Amino acid sequence: MAIDVDALLARVPTGLLIGGTWRDASDGGTYDVENPATGETIARLASGTSDDARAALDAACEVQGEWAATPARERSNILRRAFDLVQERKEEFATLMTLEMGKPLAEARGEVVYGGEFLRWFSEEAVRDYGRYAPTPEGNLRMLTVRKPVGPCLLITPWNFPLAMGTRKVAPAVAAGCTMVLKPARLTPLTSQYFAQTMLDAGLPAGVLNVVSGASASAISNPIMEDSRLRKVSFTGSTEVGKQLMAKAAENVLRTSMELGGNAPFIVFEDADLDDAVAGAMGAKMRNTGEACTAANRFLVHESVAEEFGRKFAAKISELTMGNGLDEKTTCGPLVEAKALKSISELVDDATERGAKVLVGGKAGEGAGYFYEPTVLADVPSDARVITEEIFGPVAPIVTFSTEEEAMKLANATEFGLASYVYTQDTSRMFRVSDHLDFGLMGFNAGVISNAAAPFGGVKQSGLGREGGAEGLDEYTTIQYIGIKDPYAGH
Ligand code: NAD
Repeated sequence: MAIDVDALLARVPTGLLIGGTWRDASDGGTYDVENPATGETIARLASGTSDDARAALDAACEVQGEWAATPARERSNILRRAFDLVQERKEEFATLMTLEMGKPLAEARGEVVYGGEFLRWFSEEAVRDYGRYAPTPEGNLRMLTVRKPVGPCLLITPWNFPLAMGTRKVAPAVAAGCTMVLKPARLTPLTSQYFAQTMLDAGLPAGVLNVVSGASASAISNPIMEDSRLRKVSFTGSTEVGKQLMAKAAENVLRTSMELGGNAPFIVFEDADLDDAVAGAMGAKMRNTGEACTAANRFLVHESVAEEFGRKFAAKISELTMGNGLDEKTTCGPLVEAKALKSISELVDDATERGAKVLVGGKAGEGAGYFYEPTVLADVPSDARVITEEIFGPVAPIVTFSTEEEAMKLANATEFGLASYVYTQDTSRMFRVSDHLDFGLMGFNAGVISNAAAPFGGVKQSGLGREGGAEGLDEYTTIQYIGIKDPYAGH
């Protein structure tokens, strides 16, 4: 279905959402949003100041008590209506994401389904908020545990999944009864603006969700985090910024959820079905033009099958069509900005200077937009930067190994611990390697494993906490224990 892009952009609110009203920035400032496929400016939004950030937190704090007291069924119904509205607006959301972030339309539609599911999942979880009642082992007390919303939250999201990274935080916060200030990424705020309007359309009361985006992230986050009324910060983004926010959160002892960077190994054992592994590799590497925290970063392939895997993978990669994501034929979009293109080019140059062989791709695209050719590199030394750093682009480096033990060592040789992938037909090996791999997520013979019902999150420097699943609601609740004198106790 063709969408009238100008009419759609005109429907996206351009202001800051504070206390249920879209308004201009307090100093009248604005910032521009660009289409990375063309380099053109597509929208101008209000740029939130520190005063606006404080006003947004004021609005969230004002309604926190009332919102926490709203019956769970009402909160659940709002989320369910929001789920329906997001699906009704699927083409609009998909087009906005492609316009501001570059991913191909088919993938953007996939994100509407995936991102929308968090609304449905947490509409269901909202009413399953169980406590506990039990006697103490000594018999002196009866113990009651009650879950409470943690309180006003600051939610900071990245640009790579503009809808899903927002719904994954907003939906459990709404389900738990928290109010919030959402700060979307500067590069991709349009989807969040439209999503916030959709939440209002679904009946979310004024002040529960406030949205402040702007040219300076810290001008917005610092005053909010310095205010002792804030109770939690949930962040998805780079490990570098995550560490700064954790240090800042320590000042007021804030609850934190941190979904940070990754360096996922994709391990192909000698007994793997290679065609299946190549199909999985395409999803694990090329989804979102490689701009995913779960993206396969290092292909660790047994030496006996490395040549065949590399050949088949390169052949599939060469079938991709690079271009503007709005064109239905496009299967690989641009990178998000000029800086990303420069960083990918440097990583590939470093690998080839150290002896890596380019099987396909290996250079930037021509013309406007930030394109880099989908690339496979073979014979990559394990100390090349493309192996040790998060790539965040369509580049697949292959490293070989000779034993399972060596594969485990190589896989774990990173400070990150988010996603990992293993291809083998041996189920005992499957369980053995899961014991050894230090990663929060593992895909076995599966290249794309994210799901609203699954607990998503990392270990080591990939972060703290889980999003999605039943665990995703725990991040927004706190437990109060009430000890009641046992009626049969002798004191
Ligand atoms: P980023 O850290 O640059 O930005 C993320 C968000 O933080 C944005 O909203 C940005 O405006 C804000 N921000 C930046 N500096 C800030 C500061 N000093 N104070 C407060 N906020 C600040 O990351 P990015 O480039 O948007 O996203 C890419 C990174 O995110 C990658 O490392 C990727 O692995 C990670 N990521 C992780 C997950 C996950 O679930 N673990 C998911 C998606 C992306």
